[in-house]
Amino acid sequence: MIKQTKEERRAYFKRYYLEHKEYFSNRKKNNREHANILNRESRIRAKQRDLKDYRKRDNESQTSYRLRRKQLVFSHYSNGSIKCVVCGESRLACLSIDHIAGGGTQHKLSLKLRGGHDFYGWLVRSRFPEGYQVLCMNCQFVKRVMNREIGWGASPAMRS
Ligand SMILES: [Zn+2]
Repeated sequence: MIKQTKEERRAYFKRYYLEHKEYFSNRKKNNREHANILNRESRIRAKQRDLKDYRKRDNESQTSYRLRRKQLVFSHYSNGSIKCVVCGESRLACLSIDHIAGGGTQHKLSLKLRGGHDFYGWLVRSRFPEGYQVLCMNCQFVKRVMNREIGWGASPAMRS
């Protein structure tokens, strides 16, 4: 092995850097993106863990576990405070998870999910997939009209 002097080593790295400049400038960006992914992952794991631990510790009833899970899912899909992302309605009873791209019913059928609670469980198990948002029933209905999913939505008067 040839022993390099400090200067030679420095020159080598400099040359290496210049030859791989693109890689180094992307590395910063890639690291940041990677860190974002890791952050998201660890936040999701923490949420899943919280949901599990708490139930075990307190021997919680199924009803309150489901309510807590619903709250967790809804707060995830409305960015913190639970509310309709369109009008701000915050009463939990009239909020639902909306499949942004549509086709939610078909999707639920294909997963053989029975009812909302099955779906919330699926969202947690699937690590909170993207493409969902919290909508109140009114805004959900308006969206369906706008998308002409409902017959009389085809009438322009109903879409104003
Ligand atoms: Zn709304």
